[in-house]
Amino acid sequence: MRILITGGAGFLGSHLSDRFIAEGHSVIAMDNLLTGSTANIEHLAGHDRFMFIKHDVTNYIYVEGEIDAVLHFASPASPIDYLEYPIPTLKVGALGTHKALGLAKAKNARFLLASTSEVYGDPLIHPQTEDYWGNVNPIGPRGVYDEAKRFAEAMTMAYHRYHQLDTRIVRIFNTYGPRMRQEDGRVVPNFIAQALRGEPLTVYGDGSRTRAFCFVDDLVEGIYRLLMSNEVEPVNIGNPSEMTILQFAEKIIELTGSTSEIAFIEPTDMRIKDDPKVRQPDISKARRILNWEPRVPLEVGLTKTIDYFRPRILG
Ligand code: UDP
Repeated sequence: MRILITGGAGFLGSHLSDRFIAEGHSVIAMDNLLTGSTANIEHLAGHDRFMFIKHDVTNYIYVEGEIDAVLHFASPASPIDYLEYPIPTLKVGALGTHKALGLAKAKNARFLLASTSEVYGDPLIHPQTEDYWGNVNPIGPRGVYDEAKRFAEAMTMAYHRYHQLDTRIVRIFNTYGPRMRQEDGRVVPNFIAQALRGEPLTVYGDGSRTRAFCFVDDLVEGIYRLLMSNEVEPVNIGNPSEMTILQFAEKIIELTGSTSEIAFIEPTDMRIKDDPKVRQPDISKARRILNWEPRVPLEVGLTKTIDYFRPRILG
C-alpha cells in the first residue's frame, strides 16, 4: 500500500511511518513541523519507500500518484500546545480533516482519523465506552482540541455516509514513548525530566487524578489492526491500567533511581482547567473486533522512554 500520514514527523506519525515501512508499504509523511520534528524521521530519510513533504494540511493537499490510505494524525496534542496554538489546533482538526478527507476521496483511499479520549471530556461515565457522548466544555482552553476532534469525527462520518468513503476512527488514550517532546508539558516528559535532573516532580492538585498510560508500540499495533479491519465506528485504543498521578510520580522516581521529591502544586492556568479527573479506556470493543490488547508492561515501556530522554536531558 502507499500511505499518506499527516503529522508524519510527530510522535505518533513517526512511529506509524516506521511500522508501515517495516511491513513493506510506502509512506509519505506530511508535516508542517509546528510541533513535529524531522529528527523523528531522519533515520528514514533516503529510504526508497519513504518520502517527507513539508506542508500545512489546512491548505489544499496535492500529491501525485495513487494513494491507498490517508492517516490523519496532524495536530498539536498537549494542553500547553493548545494554549500556545489554539487556532492552528482548531484549524487542523477542522480544515485539515476536510482536506485530508478530500484527498482520500479523490484518490479513492481508505481514511483513518486520529481521534482522542478528549472527545469524552471530563467523563461522567467510567471507564469510557465508545457509545458515551462525552462531557466537554466547548469554551474552555481544552475545547479547541476537544471540539476540533469532535468535529473531525462528525466530518469523517459524513464523508462515509454521503460519499461512501471507507473510513476508520481511533480514539487514542494517553500514550507515551520515545520521541515525545521533552517540552510538551505532558506528565510523562515532565516527570522523567524532573526526576533525571533531581528536581521535584510537579504533581498538580492532590495527585488523585487518574490516567492510564499506553506504550506507543501497543498503540501502533492497535491502529494497524484497525486500519486493516472493517470497523467504521470509533474504537478506543489505550491501556486500561489506571493509576493516580501520585502513583505515577512514585513509579517514575523508582525507575529513574532519582532522589527527587514530590511537589504538590496548584496551577491556576489552563494546565489544570477542565483537566479530566479520571480517565480509563474500556477496550472491550478493540479486544472483540481487533483481537487487540496492550502487551507492554508499564515498567518496560517507561524504561525505554527514560533511556530515550536520559542523553537528551543530561547531555
Ligand atoms: N500533570 C501533573 N504534573 C505535570 C503534568 C501533568 O500532575 O507536570 C497531570 C495533569 O494535571 C493531568 C495528568 O497529569 O491530570 C495528565 O496530564 P497530561 O498533560 O500528560 O495529559 P492529559 O491526559 O491531561 O491530556
